[in-house]
Amino acid sequence: MKIHEYQAKQILARFGVPIPPGEVASTPEEAEEAARRLQKRVVVKAQVHVGGRGKAGGVKLARTPEEAGDAARRIIGMDIKGIAVRKVLVEEAADIAEEYYLGITLDRAVRRSVVMVSAVGGVDIEEVAAETPEKIARLHVDPAMGLADFQIRQVCYASGIRKTAVGPASKFLRALYEAYTATDASLFEINPLALTKDGQVIAADAKINIDDNALFRHPDFQEYQEESEEDPIEAEAHRRHIQYVRLGGTVGIIGNGAGLVMATLDEVKRAGGAPANFLDIGGGARAELVRNALEIVLMDREVKGVVFNVFGGITRCDEVAKGILEATAAMKICVPLVVRLTGTNEREGRALLTGTNLIPAETMQEAALHIVNLVG
Ligand code: GDP
Ligand code: MN
Repeated sequence: MKIHEYQAKQILARFGVPIPPGEVASTPEEAEEAARRLQKRVVVKAQVHVGGRGKAGGVKLARTPEEAGDAARRIIGMDIKGIAVRKVLVEEAADIAEEYYLGITLDRAVRRSVVMVSAVGGVDIEEVAAETPEKIARLHVDPAMGLADFQIRQVCYASGIRKTAVGPASKFLRALYEAYTATDASLFEINPLALTKDGQVIAADAKINIDDNALFRHPDFQEYQEESEEDPIEAEAHRRHIQYVRLGGTVGIIGNGAGLVMATLDEVKRAGGAPANFLDIGGGARAELVRNALEIVLMDREVKGVVFNVFGGITRCDEVAKGILEATAAMKICVPLVVRLTGTNEREGRALLTGTNLIPAETMQEAALHIVNLVG
């Protein structure tokens, strides 16, 4: 789960990681008032789940509350890499002397978390890693031992940051690592880590990803979850507990079992079509479940046809067919539906579909060709 910078900073503050004081705002007026309360020069920052906001014009400095309001007026509603900005973070502008980089993430190859520190911050770290990897100091953390103070100092020294910054940066990293483990994060990225003119080290930017599999341990992150979804259809599917991923094509796809659905995506592609989505209805095929799935898939206006690919194991194909018929009878559907049923009671299932608007198919390949031809 991705969370916004302002939310990441709330988490950091809880663990004693130094951040600039700030407030989140949804309107220019709120931004202006926030700047007035802060009584300092502020920076107004777009809150979207993509990097490179600075380059896109989504980060602006403001000397007065009026300027902060103007900056917010220009940023809210702005489109950054396809995402509309709805909120801005207004925070005290740091007087930055130098910009560093500090990251913690899981290194799957080594099966340990890795701490990365670099004196080259404020820029694309992927570029630094590709062109001058020696400029990033790395430290793999033994999960049983944790981080020792001497290791923290070592990695900070090795990074090439200013000697006077090593002390505060070490303290910063200590607190950051505590926050990283306590929140079950998969990524913490502070870029830039700002060394201010008065020698303090603070998080000017903060990016946090939380491991979805650990979310049940963090009920307090619930409020972040709603906002973590940018796509309205994916958000609705999530509310209905349906596994759905939007893919942007025109062929809607519904199946049972993630593997079968992915194989169906491949077949649709091979037949020359463009899958609109991934949707796994899982076990069972009650009409209500099928209806929910169809409703979600058809919320996407690009969908010109839908293919069902169902394997009857414990769930019998005639039950599935009944579910589909019941659901479609209660809905107004204007696109062709191709249904491929196989497994337990497949003949009974297919028999139920004859004489209806549903188009039966015997194999997955046939179903894919059918729907791609119909969609055109
Ligand atoms: P990103 O472009 O999405 O990574 O957004 P950042 O929060 O990293 O901001 C981009 C750049 O804006 C930083 O590298 C800084 O140079 C600048 N910036 C951000 N916050 C401040 C601040 O408080 N003071 C100053 N002077 N510059 C800032
Ligand atoms: Mn940044």
